[in-house]
Amino acid sequence: MNEAIVLKSTGSWYLVKDITTGKVYDARIRGKFKKDKIRNTNPLAVGDRIQYELEDHDIAWITKIYPRKNYIIRKSVNLSKETHIIASNIDLACIVFTLKHPQTSLGFLNRCLITCEAYQIPVLIVFNKIDLLSETELEELQEIEKIYQNIGYSTLRISALTNLHIEELKNKIKNKISVFIGHSGSGKSSTINALQENLNLKVATISNYNEKGKHTTTFAQMYEWDFGGAIIDIPGIKEFELVDIHKEELQDYFPEILREKVYCKYNNCLHINEPQCAVIEAVKEGRISEKRYSHYLKLMQELK
Ligand code: GDP
Ligand code: ZN
Repeated sequence: MNEAIVLKSTGSWYLVKDITTGKVYDARIRGKFKKDKIRNTNPLAVGDRIQYELEDHDIAWITKIYPRKNYIIRKSVNLSKETHIIASNIDLACIVFTLKHPQTSLGFLNRCLITCEAYQIPVLIVFNKIDLLSETELEELQEIEKIYQNIGYSTLRISALTNLHIEELKNKIKNKISVFIGHSGSGKSSTINALQENLNLKVATISNYNEKGKHTTTFAQMYEWDFGGAIIDIPGIKEFELVDIHKEELQDYFPEILREKVYCKYNNCLHINEPQCAVIEAVKEGRISEKRYSHYLKLMQELK
């Protein structure tokens, strides 16, 4: 039985890599299989695990797709309502945060985190450009780190410029399939370059976000690290789009709220102004960060 992982997907043909031999093949989906099993504009995504049969011309015919442990979707631009799976089986999302140059807002960080929670993708918050920070700014950063560490998120201070903690980062992403997200200019390309100089990745595309959501002809692609594991480059994604989240669901994507809510008096409590709300209590007692809680309230107002 031949098993492979999808390195690239254009919707009509695929690049797959055999997980035992390491050989790379062009791959196709049989028409019948395509029609019967999968109804989607692009049935296979980068990161998918598949089975295949080899035929002449070294073309791998895909015969089976294994269930995905998670995936990232994007709303199709031309067919307004349709969604499109672009990457799957992601082990880690590295969110690159900079206190300055450019300043990453906590709102941005929270939105990325919520999306990762919704997608069930583990997160590492990477604080980059540490070399630029003064003593006072380092203290400010420490406050931010504390907020997110208390929730349970892993964090790491790095500098892509001075190579601070690049080895630690390497150890954290080793043998994993990861994605890097963050504002344009936060240092994603530089960090990837510091991790491995010759990674044949047109990293610039990561931040080439098309603001108007225009159709781009670039596709997600997986690149393997020398030290084990891979990165999925998703052109056009700088922050994950918030998936369709319902008001009642939002609380579940704040791990600290999820922990406390079992103690609320009402089990349909939304933690806004209900009596005997354990979440509000936890905010008062400092177990939940006020900043995070007010962002929760703000998002609750925005959601339908
Ligand atoms: P991207 O848009 O997220 O890929 O960001 P880039 O990697 O292109 O970096 C944007 C700018 O920040 C470049 O001028 C980098 O040289 C600079 N930069 C990246 N990382 C660091 C860092 O750790 N320290 C400093 N001082 N500059 C950095
Ligand atoms: Zn409550």
